[in-house]
Amino acid sequence: MKKSLNQDWLARSQAAVWHPCTQMQHHAQTGSASHLPLVPIARGSGAWLYDFDGKRYLDGISSWWTNLFGHANPRINAALKDQLETLEHVMLAGFTHQPVIELSERLSALTGGTLGHAFYASDGASATEIALKMSFHYWRNVGRPEKADFLCLAGSYHGETVGALAVTDVAIFKDAYAPLVRAAHVVPSPDFRLAESGETPADVARRAAAALENHLEQHGANIAALIVEPLVQGAAGMAMYDPEYLRLARQLCDQYEVHLICDEIAVGCGRTGTFFAHEQAGIRPDLMCLSKGISGGYLPLSIVLSSDIIYAAFLDDSVSRAFLHSHSYTGNPLACRAALATLDIFEQDQTVTVNRQKAAKISAALAPLAAHPRVKHLRQRGMIAAFDVETNDPYFSRKFYRAALEHEALIRPIGNTVYLMPPYIVSDEEIEQLASAISGALRAAT
Ligand SMILES: *Cc1c(COP(=O)(O)O)cnc(C)c1O
Repeated sequence: MKKSLNQDWLARSQAAVWHPCTQMQHHAQTGSASHLPLVPIARGSGAWLYDFDGKRYLDGISSWWTNLFGHANPRINAALKDQLETLEHVMLAGFTHQPVIELSERLSALTGGTLGHAFYASDGASATEIALKMSFHYWRNVGRPEKADFLCLAGSYHGETVGALAVTDVAIFKDAYAPLVRAAHVVPSPDFRLAESGETPADVARRAAAALENHLEQHGANIAALIVEPLVQGAAGMAMYDPEYLRLARQLCDQYEVHLICDEIAVGCGRTGTFFAHEQAGIRPDLMCLSKGISGGYLPLSIVLSSDIIYAAFLDDSVSRAFLHSHSYTGNPLACRAALATLDIFEQDQTVTVNRQKAAKISAALAPLAAHPRVKHLRQRGMIAAFDVETNDPYFSRKFYRAALEHEALIRPIGNTVYLMPPYIVSDEEIEQLASAISGALRAAT
């Protein structure tokens, strides 16, 4: 029998790599219901990933929501090769460079100039921490140090470092570390699955906004910022909500002098049908976090964009009034160049417009699932489609994941929620393949 290269790599990985978001023991339990396969990937091309034995997988979730224009994208590759020969890295304290300047200018322009300064880090959780610290420090600098608490939505996910966990409301990530975390205030989610009989999604949004108003009435004087994932709460299981909530939240934040932080780490960069999700509510945040797709899924990069009012409150002779936060790789030129190449593709290919047709294709391909007896809340916002599966099987998500791999698809449910979040270069034929992998995996897992 031909020796499997996959087997070699996965044995070595299990022996030496501590994988994220994983009970490592599940990798070893081959053949059992709890088995979680480990897939060694040799290379990627377009929407496809290839293992060492020649099997391929259609990347239905953009490699954890990061990849926008396919693996080994020729245009991003070319930009990075050029950047490699020019400048791989320089510290951003006291030094600056072309990619970071151009990226900051272009991102500010994409907010209509309302968020005039860009602060850099490498991962999403750090962007959350930066936004929280900026808001807190702003209120201190303007003589309102009592505004020191944060508000987040039920089911929110903003990252897993200790500071970001404070505004993350997902028990599986948070409970073990609760004693380490300074808890934030949690207000009800506008998730439209919570509709009572006769309620529209906009009604649910108004009900949740009324609860927010109540909370601000009582505690607003001590609250620095409200942080939200605009339109789709990803890690909660693709909980979607009406833009009305963001409109009302913006008004309430203004009224109670609370910053609105939009965490667009997952929903930004064209994912929901507009370049930024908050645009669909006709509002602007005071602070915005970006990461994941902004580098095209190539390199770790995160950005916090801030309003000029916030920025100006840090200008002073005193160093202690400055925002001293830093990371060694802040503003890395390679990562910024990957982001510039990504923004170029958005412009050259009119991606946001083209995605509307793609989203319609996805919707048509998944429509037959609505009739499936176990499928509930089939829903979509742009290039995110999701549904919940009625089952009591604790192994559902792993069974589905394993079955999808057998159908040549990478689709990794969150609990009982199955979702698609493909790269934007996915073809009509690949959309059909993903839909048929979903039906097949659903048959195998229920
Ligand atoms: C993924 C994610 C984060 C955290 O980003 P990391 O790079 O994984 O730290 C924060 N907020 C949202 C909405 C996310 O989806």
